Order: sequence, then structure tokens, then C-alpha cells
Amino acid sequence: MDEEDAMGGTETGGNLAPPPADPALLLADFVNTLDVESATDEITTPGGLAGWLAGRGLMPEGAGASDADVRTAVALREGLREAMEAHHRPDEADIPDDLEDVLAALPLRVSLAGPRPALVPLDPLGAAAGGLARIAAAVMDSVAAGTWPRLKTCQIDTCRWAFLDTSKNRSRSWCSMKVCGNRAKTRAYRARRRAPA
Ligand SMILES: [Zn+2]
Repeated sequence: MDEEDAMGGTETGGNLAPPPADPALLLADFVNTLDVESATDEITTPGGLAGWLAGRGLMPEGAGASDADVRTAVALREGLREAMEAHHRPDEADIPDDLEDVLAALPLRVSLAGPRPALVPLDPLGAAAGGLARIAAAVMDSVAAGTWPRLKTCQIDTCRWAFLDTSKNRSRSWCSMKVCGNRAKTRAYRARRRAPA
């Protein structure tokens, strides 16, 4: 097998590591590049985005990203956050139009050239856009693994951290019981105390 075949035949794939083993964790990590609570964002600059993608084997080390790639990345990330948020209410699936628009800008094709059939970026995509398209492809891998409906965001509006709901009845609301679960309880307790008797 030559190098190109091993990487799924994409032109930008020459230096890429194998795709991350767990697509759900990749998607959660990507959404969590913005820490809502501390307002720290790992991908606000082309260099930050390129470093993040290269660090996960999603684009070659040393390849650059543009301001347009950063805008695409942020739109993809916030759209995915909304989609994960909607998983708390599976009966009212309401996926934002913006997410469809950004996904349309990250075209994928089926490839049978790698170790297993996979969705790979269309060749004309640049290195960073190709990396973002691989994140979009991870949605389908997560669907195949059964983890997609369990990817959710913390229900505390100042947190919104993405997590995989591994609870038995699939009803986890918070990123962590210790932190946000207790916050929610404290807020509910205060609200009850404030309410007129
Ligand atoms: Zn939280």
C-alpha cells in the first residue's frame, strides 16, 4: 500500500495520522475549543486553528489556515454545539440553518481506499478546510457508533460544555454533577426561597 492509499487518497492526507479512534470524543473536544465559562478560545486565529487540527492528525503539520478557515471553524463549532444541545429534546429536532450552510461548504465523498470505507474531504479543499470536513465526517462515524444522540451540552447556560451522556437512562443534563449539577440545585433552591410563600 503506498502512502496515499493509506491515507484515504486525499491530496492533503500525506502526513496525517490515522483518524481519531473515538469520533464522539473528537466532536466534543472540537466544541470545547471554546470554554464558554472562561471565554477562552483555542481556534480564534489561523495559527491556533492549524495547530489544533494538526495536533489531532486532521491536517498536516506546518500547513497554514486562513481567516476564512477560522470563520468556517467557528460556524461549524457553534452549529455542532446547537445540534448537541438539541439532543436534550430529541422530539423537537431543530438544527440551525447556519449549520447546514457550513456543512455545504465542507464537501465529502465516499472512499474505499483506506482500511475501511470512509467519508473523506473532496480534494479541492485546502488543508484546514479538509480538517474541518473530517470533523463533519466524524458526525457520521459517531452516528454509526451510536454515540451521536448522546452528545449533549451542559444545561447551565454559562457552561455549555459538550459531553457524552453515558448515563443509563440517557438523561444527564450537566457536564458534571459536582460542578454544574450542584449549581443547578443551588439556583433551584434560591428560586424557591425567593418565590412568595
Ligand atoms: Zn457544565
